Amino acid sequence: MDIINSIDAFNEAKSVIPGGVNSPVRAFGSVNGNPRMIKSAYKCYLIDEDNNEYIDFIQSWGPLILGHRDADVIDAIKYTLEKGVSYGAPTILETELAKEIISIYDGIDKIRLVNSGTEATMSALRLARAFSKKDDIIKFDGCYHGHNDSLLVSAGSGCATFGSPSSPGVPSDFSKHTLVARYNDLDSLESCFKASNNVACVIIEPIAGNMGLVPANVEFIKGVRKLCDKYEALLVFDEVMSGFRAALEGANHYYNTEIDLVTFGKVIGGGFPLAAFGGRDDIMNMLSPLGNVYQAGTLSGNPIAVAAGYSTLLKIKNIKNIYENLENLAIRLTNGIKNKANNFGFNMQTCVRGSMFGFFFNNNEVKNFDDAKNSDTGLFAKFHQKMLQRGVYFAPSTFESGFICTPMNEETIDKVINDSEIVFDEIRNG
Ligand SMILES: *Cc1c(COP(=O)(O)O)cnc(C)c1O
Repeated sequence: MDIINSIDAFNEAKSVIPGGVNSPVRAFGSVNGNPRMIKSAYKCYLIDEDNNEYIDFIQSWGPLILGHRDADVIDAIKYTLEKGVSYGAPTILETELAKEIISIYDGIDKIRLVNSGTEATMSALRLARAFSKKDDIIKFDGCYHGHNDSLLVSAGSGCATFGSPSSPGVPSDFSKHTLVARYNDLDSLESCFKASNNVACVIIEPIAGNMGLVPANVEFIKGVRKLCDKYEALLVFDEVMSGFRAALEGANHYYNTEIDLVTFGKVIGGGFPLAAFGGRDDIMNMLSPLGNVYQAGTLSGNPIAVAAGYSTLLKIKNIKNIYENLENLAIRLTNGIKNKANNFGFNMQTCVRGSMFGFFFNNNEVKNFDDAKNSDTGLFAKFHQKMLQRGVYFAPSTFESGFICTPMNEETIDKVINDSEIVFDEIRNG
């Protein structure tokens, strides 16, 4: 596979963009590869600057559940685009998207649109703090909620208590308000509650997709809700990735739990910068201009982004058995690769939730970030590189999820499984 144009273009990018990318994981750092510069895409395929074609399991990191350039979404975008690109004033389309999300997702009365998942979680936390009149928050190790100061916090050493900044530039004055608990571990969560009597909310990816795919178990989520009630903290589900991906109703499909606030992103923007946070009336009504919790955005609810997201939601809602079909393909893929791996003596842990899938080169079940970090990342890097050379584009890190989109079918998946057999053979015997 020739990637000379990608190499040249990436070098050029590095001279003007830090690391050559506008979001770090795109640099392929953890798999020692040269990222492909993408020129165009269609259905489930990406095409790079050297005209190589790849089966795309990243799909813009989740948004493109209908694949690239879905005809109905493109039509909606064009139709809206020709009338104007931005007004900075309310449009009927925003109401329609809000209604659609509220009707699909149980337990929320109102939502507000923003431009990124980062903004959605930042705003949800501000609201939770204002509502509860408390300052501390609890997050879980391995969950990612965007790059807000108060969320770029990792577990301190030893038992779970107050976190420390996970990036230079985050003042410890901010991180001291964030406690970090272990995922799928109620004792750890309760010890965080006990360490602070000032917890505004617990924020969690109910189906964690940012440490690889690691879903919370049902009892754990029930316990989280109970502890939130006991300590009078709000429960915030971050469904930026899992919303409309793990199931149409998101985590509600798996956990029958009341939540106080929820964040969405990725799929609801149909590939455009659009995200949202929502929740109960009494909480959401505290937002400006109704209440005095300030939150705003020049381009929030941008009509093109809303049109793309709305047309995506309408379409997925009307495709019969869409999530069952996507899930069957995801199971076929992960089982297929795992069988091939086992034949060559490599152990794998796999997981599927709707159109999301994950796999670890790991001997043991993965229930939290510590387990995930025990995976063989060196083996993953080799696997990733060799699959890429065969035209299979997996996320360039063990700690990311993969996605199935509707243009994929059994042949797509079987090609990938066959490639994996060749790759495992090369790694074992090459
Ligand atoms: C992607 C993601 C975010 C951040 O969204 P951005 O649009 O990248 O800011 C937040 N939470 C979760 C769960 C995500 O997967």
